[in-house]
Amino acid sequence: MSYLKSFPNQEGFFGDFGGAFLPPVLIPHFEEINKAYMELGRSADFLNELKYIRKHYQGRPTPVYYAHNLSKECGAHIYLKREDLNHSGAHKLNHCMAEALLAKHMGKTKLIAETGAGQHGVALATAAAYFGMECEIHMGEIDIAKEAPNVTRMKLLGAKVVPVSFGGRSLKEAVDSAFDSYVPQADTALFAIGSVVGPHPFPMMVRNFQSVVGHEAREQFLEMTGELPDQVGACVGGGSNAMGMFAGFIEDENVGLNGVEPLGRGTNIGEHSATMTYGKPGMIHGFKCLLLEDEEGNPAPVHSIASGLDYPGVGPEHSYLKTMGKVDYHAVTDDETLDAFYKLSRMEGIIPALESSHAVAWAMKHGKENPGSTILINLSGRGDKDIDYVAENFGTGE
Ligand SMILES: *Cc1c(COP(=O)(O)O)cnc(C)c1O
Repeated sequence: MSYLKSFPNQEGFFGDFGGAFLPPVLIPHFEEINKAYMELGRSADFLNELKYIRKHYQGRPTPVYYAHNLSKECGAHIYLKREDLNHSGAHKLNHCMAEALLAKHMGKTKLIAETGAGQHGVALATAAAYFGMECEIHMGEIDIAKEAPNVTRMKLLGAKVVPVSFGGRSLKEAVDSAFDSYVPQADTALFAIGSVVGPHPFPMMVRNFQSVVGHEAREQFLEMTGELPDQVGACVGGGSNAMGMFAGFIEDENVGLNGVEPLGRGTNIGEHSATMTYGKPGMIHGFKCLLLEDEEGNPAPVHSIASGLDYPGVGPEHSYLKTMGKVDYHAVTDDETLDAFYKLSRMEGIIPALESSHAVAWAMKHGKENPGSTILINLSGRGDKDIDYVAENFGTGE
């Protein structure tokens, strides 16, 4: 059986990682979601409607682009899967439209979620508007200040934005807050998780919804070059854009898979969010994964210049793929990320999201070390949301 059909197992485990460790009140609701996905989510009606939405509303397929100037600079061949051109500016709409479609088939009228950089919130608010559903988004106050344009977008799209003011006031707390709000509303609302994280079935479901990225990219790359890339790469926060990309190539033994995570300002606790490099097996938000912990065993404070990547956990499937040696994980710093952000903007006319800039930074480094090689990376989103933050703190790169 193919890898994607074999993993996870029926209980949602990828090896030792994953599962669903939920308070008793939530168990029936996640079982309902799993049952709905297994039955409705694989029906021809569901898949045809999703196909229609992707083509006519999202603008898929997104192109693969040969970054000719950057390639020349690095001495290797760098290709970008342009998820920044997906409607709403990032890959996240791929799973949000599908989650909302599932909610519709389940008879739900409301979508609830957390958001980090605001990208998942914007994508989910977009999906809610499309389907005529209510939408409630929980967001840390730090992220609200940093990503103001996305907060405005969510409000314009009709979502209610709930500020989260406890703890680190970022993504981790936003998840806690969204869960608390969901419990009493679970009969009429769907909790729409924004990455390949959370309790089963979300890591599987979100991966499968995102796999359109990798399947498209594989076909497009073959058509452009007549062969497969030597290396495929993507940034990893929770890991959804990376899993979507990897899904297209995971059966190809000669294609190297690379996840790129944030090393932030350095290796001390609180300065980075490099879960794959420094994490240990643990549990967060109802699933097992590699996890960054402080001395007391609580989820560690994390930092990244890209607020969509600052989560102390990571998708269970990434944790598994790392342990199996199937995917290589690399950590790049804020400074390397900024350099890639400026370079891609200047050299290709593409302003990337700071999250995606991590993957660009790795591709540049890998390309210089491996001249002539072909590298395909997932450009997960556009950088419009980040331009004010970058310009105010680091300048415009002149
Ligand atoms: C949210 C986000 C990410 C990180 O999420 P993953 O689930 O790891 O993909 C990466 N890039 C962009 C543009 C994002 O908005």
